[in-house]
Amino acid sequence: MEFDLIEVIRSRCSVSRADVRLGIGDDAAVLSPPAGHDLAVSTDTLVAGVHFPFAASARDLGWKALAVNLSDLAAMGATPAWALLALTLPDASRDFVAAFADGFAELAAQHGVALVGGDTTRGPLNVGVTVHGFIASGRALRRDGARPGDLVFVTGTLGDAAAGLRCLDRADSRAPELFNAPADTREALVARLNRPLPRVSAGAALRDLASACIDVSDGLLADLGHIAERSGVGIELDAEALPSSSALLALFERDERLVLQAAGGDDYELAFCAAPARATEVQRDLARIGCGATRIGRVVEGERVRLFDRDGSELVFERGGWNHFG
Ligand code: ADP
Ligand code: MG
Repeated sequence: MEFDLIEVIRSRCSVSRADVRLGIGDDAAVLSPPAGHDLAVSTDTLVAGVHFPFAASARDLGWKALAVNLSDLAAMGATPAWALLALTLPDASRDFVAAFADGFAELAAQHGVALVGGDTTRGPLNVGVTVHGFIASGRALRRDGARPGDLVFVTGTLGDAAAGLRCLDRADSRAPELFNAPADTREALVARLNRPLPRVSAGAALRDLASACIDVSDGLLADLGHIAERSGVGIELDAEALPSSSALLALFERDERLVLQAAGGDDYELAFCAAPARATEVQRDLARIGCGATRIGRVVEGERVRLFDRDGSELVFERGGWNHFG
């Protein structure tokens, strides 16, 4: 089966690059990274029933499998170049593979990413993607560079993907209402879940501006927790400042919204820290790119991430809701 399916994939992924000496078709790809650059490499696996529902569309799955990987490169400030695709399929469904490859290829074309190889095997549905990108030597954006006094920002809006998941969940406490919401509002949220836009240009722009950066995949508090831990600092966030899309505002009240924004995953925005002297430049450059950046908090001496309400009291997420602390 494998050869036919490989051809189905290869024929759809049409990006060609001069730095690919040898792509799909030999025992290994031969690649030529540019002089003076570091290579950033990352891999992420999506498992059916764990990271996506069995009913997810193959096309969206192809898009998302690449998107979550490009998001990791974006968070490093790397410019993506090459990808490898390890596909495990329960049966040799040509239609599934074609639709999957179309979704993958659509996003790959937007970022000039060449698919240079992979593996195709039989087994429970599982999608592994590895991506490679370039960064001028020594300039990667890391998690460990945040310093007390830095400001904390996030690109785009938060909570939309988690809201999209609630819109699809028939067991949700507000299912009938969310299901009957205006189609464009629902679809805007579901699209954020199924077709995340990796913030690649924002990551590149932040290379010279941010002190630390991470992509929001598990949820804002959890992901900023990694920056706090790796940098040896504390982070204070203003609940009121977390950016909301108009679709999120239309369907969710404040408390629900805050759960989705602070604890929901799958947004693939970039959360980052920068010195106050860089704030104007950060906001100008990211506005120019189109995603914008919202200032949501500050880096302090200490540890862990804390969220504050507008009256200054700390909000603690417990048993699915917010409680005031102390
Ligand atoms: P080998 O047996 O040498 O590992 P394969 O038959 O697995 O070779 O793969 C043949 C070629 O097709 C290789 O260049 C490999 O990288 C590529 N390939 C296999 N599966 C995929 C896939 N899912 N996506 C992209 N390239 C693939
Ligand atoms: Mg192989």
